[in-house]
Amino acid sequence: MNEYLKNLNKIEFAVTMACTGRCKHCQNGDQAGSAEHIDAETAVDAIRKVCAHYPIGTLMTFGGEPLLYPETVFAIHKTAKELGIGTRQVITNGYFTKNEERAGAVARELAESGVNDLLLSVDAFHQETIPLEPVLRFAGYAVKSGIPIRLQPAWLVSAEDDNPYNIRTREILRAFAPLRIPVGEGNVIFPSGNALKYLREYFTDAEEFSPYEEDPKDIRSLSFAPNGDVLNGNAYRADILEIIRDYRP
Ligand code: SF4
Repeated sequence: MNEYLKNLNKIEFAVTMACTGRCKHCQNGDQAGSAEHIDAETAVDAIRKVCAHYPIGTLMTFGGEPLLYPETVFAIHKTAKELGIGTRQVITNGYFTKNEERAGAVARELAESGVNDLLLSVDAFHQETIPLEPVLRFAGYAVKSGIPIRLQPAWLVSAEDDNPYNIRTREILRAFAPLRIPVGEGNVIFPSGNALKYLREYFTDAEEFSPYEEDPKDIRSLSFAPNGDVLNGNAYRADILEIIRDYRP
């Protein structure tokens, strides 16, 4: 359809930039707390159209904190499951409500929606502003609901480095041991957004850098922003297949 997207195999939605955390390492910079979020109907329509033309193997929802808008996340993942997308991921900090019943209900519905890779961001940075207790509770509900879940810590310098942040992260991970949740490899913080502002001393290269940047001539992941922006267009104003057709790097 468009040679610059011939290897497209992933769709991702930044559901919202609103967040319950204020992390020092956040790549999005200071979160403005905007309530803007992707429209579920537009997202579902785009997934259906893209899947009709491309072999999408992975769909990811993240934020901000995507579970501030759980109904949207459910709708997106139900569609992904229905269309046979194999990997259906949510990245969450696990803290989106103070209401225990609500947290349990969201975990159950995530399982029913077909989420099969729940990545829980827990580490020294998240837990500076996000209380651990409700996150532990949500993790327990997720385990009980049968959702495959992994802890996804952010490491500073490397997972092996013994800086004070990593030492605290290891303590936090130990708090999850009774739940027997596997620890994923996590990610090493890169110099971008808040990380560049607050953790500069830990980076040898102070140039802004992101390992997640796409090659504009070989787009493999179609990324939707909360305001509908995708590639060089906007999913609220144009059909996603036209946006793909008209894309130029
Ligand atoms: S929880 Fe995630 S999106 Fe929210 S401030 Fe922390 S790193 Fe940023």
